Amino acid sequence: TSFGFRNVGTGEKQPLVNDVFHKVAKRYDIMNDVMSAGLHRAWKDAMIAALNPPRREGYRTLDVAGGTGDIAFRIIEASDRKAHSTVLDINGSMLAVGAERAEKKKLSANLDFVEANAEELPFEANSFDAYTIAFGIRNVPRIDVALKEAYRVLKRGGRLLVLEFSEVEMPLLDRIYDAWSFNAIPKFGKLITGDEAPYQYLVESIRKFPNQRDFAAMIKEAGFSRVSFTNYTGGIAALHSGWKI
Ligand code: SAM
Repeated sequence: TSFGFRNVGTGEKQPLVNDVFHKVAKRYDIMNDVMSAGLHRAWKDAMIAALNPPRREGYRTLDVAGGTGDIAFRIIEASDRKAHSTVLDINGSMLAVGAERAEKKKLSANLDFVEANAEELPFEANSFDAYTIAFGIRNVPRIDVALKEAYRVLKRGGRLLVLEFSEVEMPLLDRIYDAWSFNAIPKFGKLITGDEAPYQYLVESIRKFPNQRDFAAMIKEAGFSRVSFTNYTGGIAALHSGWKI
């Protein structure tokens, strides 16, 4: 198999990522269901259960790389429509789909959409009760910079939650998963969107992402306390948690 993006350096990575998500934005939600066989929904629900947002006004969350809004919508609904969420993404095409979905769900009053880079958040320090990022951090060229920014914008007592593909820690499942991701995902991508390369990039970016323990160490390095993680589906995905205290 050829993976044309194998040696993409930091400087070239972001334009490539942007191109991928501009291309897939309109079909992103359906692709998510196909690629993860619907599992992303259960993982996202588990992430929101871990956050357990309070049912009170004034609770502010920031969903970085928020794309089409899945995490923010779930937080607002779990808070009985009391919480406010800012959906931040570097890609206007993804945010446009998110804003349209928010209208349909009548959630717009609890939301705002901000086009910006996770490495340079346009917010003051100590602004948010929670910072969430789902399947986004592996796309950010400088993960350490993004984590420092997360720490900066969180209030004291604020929570960081990162949902991301991770290292499969179950024998057999890892081989099934490899076969699925290296072969099926780019092929499905081509079938549905007519383009295989973006999905090769996505699979490759999962391979390169640090495993559970290494990523936990990076979160500690950024200043977070009580860092822990939970594996989902044998480690296909993992939820990392940290606190700013
Ligand atoms: N969080 C959503 C979800 O779980 O369905 C979307 C995840 S999607 C796989 C990854 C998102 O990361 C894309 O919308 C992409 O535009 C965004 N992204 C990539 N690099 C970024 C950056 N440097 N800053 C902010 N967002 C970024």
